[in-house]
Amino acid sequence: MQDLSVNGERLWETIVETGKIGATPEGGITRLTLTDLDREVRDWFAGACKAAGCSVTVDEAGSIFARRAGKDNSRDPIAIGSHLDTQPLGGRFDGIAGVLSGLEILRTLEENGYTTESPLELINWTNEEGSRFSPAMLASGAFSGIYTLDFIYSTRDREGKSFREELERIGYLGEAPVGDHRLAGYFELHIEQGPILESEGLTIGVVTGAQGQLWYELTVTGRASHAGSTPMPVRKDAMLACARITVGVNRIALDHPPAAMSTVGLVEVTPNSRNVIPGRVFFTIDLRDPDEQVLLRMERETDSLVKQTGGESRTEIAMENVLKMMPMKFDETCVNVVRDAAERLGYRHRDMVSGPGHDALYIARVAPAALVFIPCEGGISHSEAESVRPDDLTAGATVLMHAVLEYDRRLAGAR
Ligand SMILES: [Zn+2]
Repeated sequence: MQDLSVNGERLWETIVETGKIGATPEGGITRLTLTDLDREVRDWFAGACKAAGCSVTVDEAGSIFARRAGKDNSRDPIAIGSHLDTQPLGGRFDGIAGVLSGLEILRTLEENGYTTESPLELINWTNEEGSRFSPAMLASGAFSGIYTLDFIYSTRDREGKSFREELERIGYLGEAPVGDHRLAGYFELHIEQGPILESEGLTIGVVTGAQGQLWYELTVTGRASHAGSTPMPVRKDAMLACARITVGVNRIALDHPPAAMSTVGLVEVTPNSRNVIPGRVFFTIDLRDPDEQVLLRMERETDSLVKQTGGESRTEIAMENVLKMMPMKFDETCVNVVRDAAERLGYRHRDMVSGPGHDALYIARVAPAALVFIPCEGGISHSEAESVRPDDLTAGATVLMHAVLEYDRRLAGAR
């Protein structure tokens, strides 16, 4: 069993084959959630899982669950999951590498006649990307009780089509109630979407947790007036206030090394005219850190920066917190079996914290979970240029498989 290995060539072939569904000229994929292309890849996936000996069910949020029987099917399943939807002009690996690694593991176990103690479940979560229907990670969020079914059904794309209508249209409005069963564990493989593993020459990232995020939307109201006739001392320049806050939050992140980050990434200036003092500016702030105490300090400092800037610039500043995700830690046992597997198999690895959100972060609220990273070229993701070395993908899938098998043995032994 220790030398059981996935078939890397077969795994790569599935990347190539499914990559044709929604392929873009530059080698990426555009396969937005609940489109006809999404249906096509789902049909392919469900068929492949059935051929690998699994029974397939779909829940009311459209997530696909492929179950492989264990020796004791009264046990809760151990799950592997990720997502098959992509960004517009996205890559061939984000999410897809995780789902197809899971499929390759099922195929490997099947052809080797290996039966786990607990049943296994391979999951394709609906709408991880959040680019067509917002917010991201809708279905795993619903499974974890973060979103109600009514909420996710009511979300609409830019053309006004609802999540539920589109789910029904592509034939994936399932009958299983969302979150109707427990998971004994959840494991996800994902590309790192950052440059650390590649730059350190490592193959496996053992993800111990995720950084926290605070998102704000701010509206500065000043007074629009003529750029040539309004004396400097009486101006109420909304853009100047935005600029001061931008520099200020950059300072706040720099003051909390090594991990703190801050970004002002979206600015809308009104009236946005070269000879008018901006009367109104809408902009966003994104603060991140893996340490809760640091993040809370950054929150307080940003609060007082905004208050102070409003006073100094004689503008009104309304600030709304639109996302508050505190840093989280994955289950220690799940993380350990991933690290042990990487070590035993001789892959160079390190512990790390996830920057982006993943389905595993939500599932970790309702099940012991872990996340495995593999390197991607240049850390580039959400891009047609996204690229992964076949050997790294094989290594990641093999680590994932051995982590799941070890976790399965531990659960069985613990009973
Ligand atoms: Zn992803």
